[in-house]
Amino acid sequence: MSEKITIAIDGPAGSGKSTVAKAVAEELGYLYVDTGAMYRAITYAALKNNVVDDAAEVIKIAQNADLSLKFENGLTRVFLNGEEVTDKIRSMEVSSKVSEVSVIPEVREQLVKIQREMSSNNSLVAEGRDVTTVVFPKAEVKIFLTATLNERSERRYKEFIEQNKNISFEVVRNNISKRDRIDSSRDTSPLTKAEDAIEIDSTSMSIEEEIKLILSKVDEIRDKIKQEKISHHN
Ligand code: C5P
Repeated sequence: MSEKITIAIDGPAGSGKSTVAKAVAEELGYLYVDTGAMYRAITYAALKNNVVDDAAEVIKIAQNADLSLKFENGLTRVFLNGEEVTDKIRSMEVSSKVSEVSVIPEVREQLVKIQREMSSNNSLVAEGRDVTTVVFPKAEVKIFLTATLNERSERRYKEFIEQNKNISFEVVRNNISKRDRIDSSRDTSPLTKAEDAIEIDSTSMSIEEEIKLILSKVDEIRDKIKQEKISHHN
């Protein structure tokens, strides 16, 4: 039987986590878990119910949410209480509120529980803000992916333009910088680099280079686990 491996990738918005995590998951045949999509889904539901500024109501939504992620053909489809919310959770309205929802400890507790359940029987690649530090502190491979604010804003802006979304660079940059600030300074599970995470600055790296680097780390770890098993048997 092959060993169960968890690859955890954290980093700020636009650092390229999703692209890299998806590619690595596809290459290895692992489950891909986009934890940000889960915080976005709860935010979407809170906005839809007009309760996004009422923490008690947001907590109720999180605790009663029937949330599932389906990874198909390089795309994560997100379902909340039977409704597909895949595209709706990517709106600027959701992006502008998601970090405020994500500071609520009870919301985090609920989502972390679901994330850990997903890992119980599967090797996976999880990405987010606290997957290396809080959700999977014992992950076999931990990556902290960064890039400059400008580079990250440009990448996100390009994505919006490609989707024909009418939005200015300034709005995108301000949203990313605001989320960076809230995500890194909150009391519960702030975005920080885990001591044992490998830091990759992707500013001037190609996606292919990043993927190769992460896959080589996975190979190293798998070899190490195999060696340990062999020496344990002898
Ligand atoms: O990854 P993405 O940019 O879609 O995440 C959206 C937001 O969800 C982040 O800005 C952050 O506020 C929140 N988040 C979080 N913890 C995670 C993943 C995302 O707080 N593990």
